[in-house]
Amino acid sequence: MLLRFIFYCLVAYAGFRFLRWLVKPAPARSNLRSPRSSRMVRCESCGLFVTEGSAMVVRGRDFCSKACAQRNLRST
Ligand SMILES: [Zn+2]
Repeated sequence: MLLRFIFYCLVAYAGFRFLRWLVKPAPARSNLRSPRSSRMVRCESCGLFVTEGSAMVVRGRDFCSKACAQRNLRST
């Protein structure tokens, strides 16, 4: 009788772990689908870190904003 109770506990625990496993990897999988937008790049003008999706790329260099890009390109 006690063994049966322990068995049911294990089944319930396994089911709970399985549900947690089903729910948890969802955000990791969505990151793999769009790795570009979640990657961080450093602004070459002010050093601020922005996501690659929101970064400005001018002549192959990453900037956080249009103002930073203009400032950096004018000084070089
Ligand atoms: Zn900047």
